[in-house]
Amino acid sequence: MSSKSSDRSVLNSQSGQPASPPVSTACQEAAGHTPIVVAGTGVALEAPMVTAVQERLRSWFRRHGRDLPWRKTRDPYHILVAEVMLQQTQVDRVLPYYTAFLERFPTLQALAEASPAEVIRLWAGLGYNRRAVNLQRVAQRIVQQHGGRFPRSVEELRTLPGIGAYTAGAIACFAFEHDVAFLDTNIRRVLHRIFIGPDVPHPRASDRALSQLAAQVVPQGGGWEWNQAVMEFGAVHCTARKPACSVCPVQAHCRAFPAILTAIQEHSATFRARDATPFAGSSRWYRGRILAALRDAPPDQGLTLADIGQQVREGFTDADLPWLQELVSGLARDGLAIIAEEPAHYDTTPSDPSRRRVRLPDS
Ligand code: SF4
Repeated sequence: MSSKSSDRSVLNSQSGQPASPPVSTACQEAAGHTPIVVAGTGVALEAPMVTAVQERLRSWFRRHGRDLPWRKTRDPYHILVAEVMLQQTQVDRVLPYYTAFLERFPTLQALAEASPAEVIRLWAGLGYNRRAVNLQRVAQRIVQQHGGRFPRSVEELRTLPGIGAYTAGAIACFAFEHDVAFLDTNIRRVLHRIFIGPDVPHPRASDRALSQLAAQVVPQGGGWEWNQAVMEFGAVHCTARKPACSVCPVQAHCRAFPAILTAIQEHSATFRARDATPFAGSSRWYRGRILAALRDAPPDQGLTLADIGQQVREGFTDADLPWLQELVSGLARDGLAIIAEEPAHYDTTPSDPSRRRVRLPDS
């Protein structure tokens, strides 16, 4: 499990049957010395090479994998909370929130029955607040439609609100130990480099091809450890900008080494420019500020649009109202805020849009 995953995504859905041959099968075929070709890449997987990579990465993980609380449990609710929090967020930042969240909502039922406003408040500071609302919707759906029993297969998990292919695969694998494959940023990078070649300046393989590749290299009976190992390896060893190639346990098998080091060096200016992109002032930044203002507002009254505007943007004027209204409407669509349908009785200028009140849901 790692962070940064706006692009965590799809893959091999296994409810029992993987979409592509598992590597043990692939390797058995290759043991007859017919390499498995990953469609769309021209890449051939030789069984001995795949086996060596599997063994080395799993061994590396046993020695170097971080001691994280969600790796010590198979409780699907705990795994779900961790996976949702880790989307777009670094592990160190998630740790205190994970503990606090499970202390306050120790079970799926507790979360399902909580006030949305309380869930959003507990999420304060973690960012991407829509995740909090989606997480609670998942809990409610499982309680209401599955009798509180957590779905086990990727297909069933994907019917839950806001659960994409990555999260469904991660829960099936990390909670139920299904040998499924799935992609997140780290898995994409590691598999691409080892089995295909340098991913800089651009990946050579599509997500579809990487999905097929990932499905072919999940070891039968070892999916939990393999997926944890690949994700962890990408998070702390084979990182995007500073892969530790000189001390890499799979260097001898890596198709990106040594070209990846030159490619990263040549494109370092591009990376720096990307890093310099300012976050402050973006819509996401303002959404966070609006929610912070609503969290501090009287729960039953909320704030007027004018109050919000003055709190979140310096020099706010009526000319900024359409901009603010659009942001607030987006929060309402995501279930993070409620906009009063009609002007409240205490409004002195009911027709004035700036007096419309906004609050957290079900405060
Ligand atoms: S040799 Fe370098 S690029 Fe290849 S897997 Fe190891 S750290 Fe990553």
